Amino acid sequence: MLEVKNVSKYYGQGHTRVTALDGVSMAVNDGDYVAIMGPSGSGKSTLVNIIGGLDSLSCGEIHLDGKRIDDRNENSLVELRRGEIAYIFQQYHLLPSLTAVENVMLPLTFAGTRADQSTALKMLEEVGLGKRGHHRPAQLSGGEQQRVAIARALVGKPRLILADEPTGNMDRKTGAQIMALFDFLNKEGHTIITVTHDPAVAELAHRLIMLEDGKITEDRPTTAVCG
Ligand code: ADP
Ligand code: MG
Repeated sequence: MLEVKNVSKYYGQGHTRVTALDGVSMAVNDGDYVAIMGPSGSGKSTLVNIIGGLDSLSCGEIHLDGKRIDDRNENSLVELRRGEIAYIFQQYHLLPSLTAVENVMLPLTFAGTRADQSTALKMLEEVGLGKRGHHRPAQLSGGEQQRVAIARALVGKPRLILADEPTGNMDRKTGAQIMALFDFLNKEGHTIITVTHDPAVAELAHRLIMLEDGKITEDRPTTAVCG
């Protein structure tokens, strides 16, 4: 279980201080599928960045299975738990000079695992790109590039997938392919937290959290879930 406990985030100091998150608390169970919505500037990206360890918090704590993962003096346990969280961006952040399969292999290389092409190819097959392994990003459509980025996020076998507007740059049809993939991954047992501004995307999640001015104003099951 992921627990966000009374987390606040301030940027700047004095009269230029901005409160991006103001005492946010939420608990996300394993296997949950959460959409985060809210107006621009409400703190959505800040929240997922802090959960993903891309940004530090000002106050509060983040726990994974009862263990803190927000420690500033990054010890190896924190690093290990962080490895269970994967992050998918709106911009895919693929390396242009590498092929799809090489991009997917990157996290394995960084983790010091013997970088194994067949593992990466299997991930690409899972996202429907088995035949595109040797293409470079420029030879792929936006939706295909995002699927490569998702395969790269999945290769480390994360329990929790964080995404910030993953379909933000896509037309509806391509976005629907990505959402179908999220649905599949959630059914396979991955916990998903995704930021979106698209109500149709949010309805595919099982739970909707609304942020406004850095505070949670609503936290409810979506209508898609019965019973
Ligand atoms: P959202 O993703 O909901 O649009 P953000 O989390 O990006 O909102 O931003 C929340 C607030 O924090 C906004 O007022 C934004 O201007 C501010 N903010 C975000 N990042 C920074 C930063 N690096 N420095 C200063 N202010 C920031
Ligand atoms: Mg944002």
